[in-house]
Amino acid sequence: MIDEKTLMYMEEYGGSFVRELAYLYRLADTENKRRLEECFHDIFERYKNFGKEEDKKQLEEIPKIPPVWYIYRCDKCGCEFSLPIIFTPKFCPRCGEKLEVSK
Ligand SMILES: [Zn+2]
Repeated sequence: MIDEKTLMYMEEYGGSFVRELAYLYRLADTENKRRLEECFHDIFERYKNFGKEEDKKQLEEIPKIPPVWYIYRCDKCGCEFSLPIIFTPKFCPRCGEKLEVSK
């Protein structure tokens, strides 16, 4: 079981893959969590022990990539929601209107 602190380190300091992995892990049920842990054991291990200051310092030098979440806004029905970039809905889930992406 991966603890919350590890997932937060992954989201804070990880690259885009590591961040999406943390996101996926949150979505997964027990069985899928186990599978993710098995497949990406080395990545989880790395962030599990991430509290050390030198790790953070080292990563501060890498420029930060903006969060991989987009806000979608529907002009027709006014609904607004955010989704990770891996999901790219083209139409409003509520009214079917074509969506514009704003960052
Ligand atoms: Zn709509």
